[in-house]
Amino acid sequence: MKIVALAGGVGGAKLAHGLAQILPPQDLTIIVNTGDDFEHYGLYICPDLDTVCYTLAGLANPETGWGRVDESWNVIENAKRLGGPGWFNLGDRDLGTHIERTRRLKEGQCLSEITRNFCKVWGIEHTVLPMTDQYVHTIVETDEGDLEFQEYFVHRRCEPHVKGFRFDGIEKAEPAPGAREAIAEADAVVICPSNPWVSIDPILRVFSPLLSGEGPGVRVFAVSPIIGGETVKGPAAKMYRELGIEPSALAVANHYGGLLAGFVLDQIDSELSKALEVKTLVTDTLMKSTEDRKRLAQEVLNWIGDL
Ligand code: GDP
Repeated sequence: MKIVALAGGVGGAKLAHGLAQILPPQDLTIIVNTGDDFEHYGLYICPDLDTVCYTLAGLANPETGWGRVDESWNVIENAKRLGGPGWFNLGDRDLGTHIERTRRLKEGQCLSEITRNFCKVWGIEHTVLPMTDQYVHTIVETDEGDLEFQEYFVHRRCEPHVKGFRFDGIEKAEPAPGAREAIAEADAVVICPSNPWVSIDPILRVFSPLLSGEGPGVRVFAVSPIIGGETVKGPAAKMYRELGIEPSALAVANHYGGLLAGFVLDQIDSELSKALEVKTLVTDTLMKSTEDRKRLAQEVLNWIGDL
């Protein structure tokens, strides 16, 4: 079965890793959000793309969920001592990625090509694509004004009250090379359990004609990132609340609306499945271990295969 997975960072990377443990490389393409990308210390940083790649390559830091394992912090500590900003942690190994990516971008290479080259070096055989090669900037509209996503997320620790979101540059963003073909050939698209507002919506905007029913009509399935009304990590539930929506798996399913052919929700939310019009899979969706990722991915694939 050929699958295209849509992913943000931590939650998305976990299910993508599960799918990659089961599907052969030619059967899985992972399309990753780049709206969170930003420049820091003159370097071009792609937090979601790096989280997905490090996770697939076995290089991710299991404790933080971001950055690299066996990391040291000499460069950032020294830059901070010299007066540089310290609100975004960049480890020494991780910095190597950003330095080389930035050098290649300045040379004129595009992000998808750079990602393909990095994946080869890291031993990642499945295809990982940024959603687009154009620049898209997620802006969080808050009661304290418009904030760039990392400014809101990391620097301000998601404290400002969210009023809305904007994806600057999205109108000009084309799907990354190969992404259209991957969707056209896919048996299903799986929306990983990532933040619907800031990780998945930007991808859906870039791919809207392809995924909205005007395209080849591929079936779209989503796994809820909200379990028992709360997020496992991150601000998705807080965002729903501040936008006046009760956070729940139901709210996530409604968020994706008519796009979905099926929805996966956690067993503790099993009651909610009755309120859903789409087909549902109720299971343990919490991925604590590598085995959990594979188990959930296998259950989702079996279910899609049976539908
Ligand atoms: P970010 O860009 O690093 O914030 O990452 P994502 O958008 O990919 O992931 C954040 C979302 O993943 C949050 O809403 C979490 O609740 C969800 N999440 C993280 N781990 C899990 C998990 O094990 N199971 C499920 N169902 N959701 C998860």
